[in-house]
Amino acid sequence: MKISNVEVIEFRTTSHSRPSRWGYGIYLGDAKTVDTISTLTKISTDEGIEGYMLGGNKELIEGVAKPLLLGEDPLDREKIWNWLDQMITFGPHFTERDAGIIDCALWDLAGRLTNLPVHKLLGGARDRVKCYASTAPNLGGPEVYYEHVKTCKQQGYKAYKVHAYICWNPHTDEPAPQLPGFPKEDLEICRAVREAAGDDMVLLHDPFGVYTFEESIWMGRELEKLNYFWLEHPMIETRVESYRRLTRELDIRILAPEHVPGGSFARAEWALQNAADMLRIDVYYGGLTGCWKLINLCQALGINCELHGPGWPHAQLLGAAPEATCLYYERGLLRPGLDDALAAPYLNSIPDPLDDDGNVIISQAPGLGLDLNWDYINEHRVKR
Ligand SMILES: [Mg+2]
Repeated sequence: MKISNVEVIEFRTTSHSRPSRWGYGIYLGDAKTVDTISTLTKISTDEGIEGYMLGGNKELIEGVAKPLLLGEDPLDREKIWNWLDQMITFGPHFTERDAGIIDCALWDLAGRLTNLPVHKLLGGARDRVKCYASTAPNLGGPEVYYEHVKTCKQQGYKAYKVHAYICWNPHTDEPAPQLPGFPKEDLEICRAVREAAGDDMVLLHDPFGVYTFEESIWMGRELEKLNYFWLEHPMIETRVESYRRLTRELDIRILAPEHVPGGSFARAEWALQNAADMLRIDVYYGGLTGCWKLINLCQALGINCELHGPGWPHAQLLGAAPEATCLYYERGLLRPGLDDALAAPYLNSIPDPLDDDGNVIISQAPGLGLDLNWDYINEHRVKR
């Protein structure tokens, strides 16, 4: 079997957020949407088997990666993964994100070929996984989060993650640069959430890198008093030494890095530096293959590897990983009034349905389990 084509399908859809000039999505509220273009990467073979992954930059994947992939055996994922890793390092304008998307599409193809879900190819560990409700940022003041966590608890969620004021000034109610952040205002939200959630709910806080070192220490100690489970990505992640000192000084678990390039290799260095208590990665930093390598490294080191963000590839990885290494699926981003069981218009179903105990049920469909609405995608296809 040989790869016969690599294509990035572009289609028009809508989004509830738009990027601010500070680079972080600003939510528009339920009533408003903006038009956007989404993509789907498709890998075809001479035997008619295909693999898919949402996302992908058309110019990079078709212009740079496709010539490398044509004629290759799509089951040689490790060989291709290493080639793509080298392209990221010194290739012409290729990204880690696009390499990850290609890797995911190859896993999807292998699953469709064998008629098995990816977590069974990796080695099945579980058919459902604990999850936390992960809020959208900038939902409003403490009273909004107070009500939202109560609603989530009623829905069955056992854990809840606060994204408070991120690239948002609560005093002017306008977009703001990432630094300086608003730790005192964030803490008011974290306190309200603990008060509303009660003692038994697991609580997490993610400031998305908006604090200084001193602010992170201060916030970490306050969150320890409130019995928060982890403090995630509190500072800019280019400064590893700050994280090493923070991890040493605080009792609360530090979860990082979320957004450093270098995938599993960079995160191995973080582990050697003791720069975090728990490591973090997603498929845009090394694909499913890279995430799986890091999960196994973390298992050997006896530390957690918590996957960043929702989606089919992460559900499949969690289905192959034991809870002792990968505790949670991140479900979101949620906000009041959002129907979290409603799929995006280009999907027939969501990747993360919940059971009655607040666990995410892992898809048993072949491959990644992507449930694409082809009528919608074809109808909204961008023709160049
Ligand atoms: Mg985060």
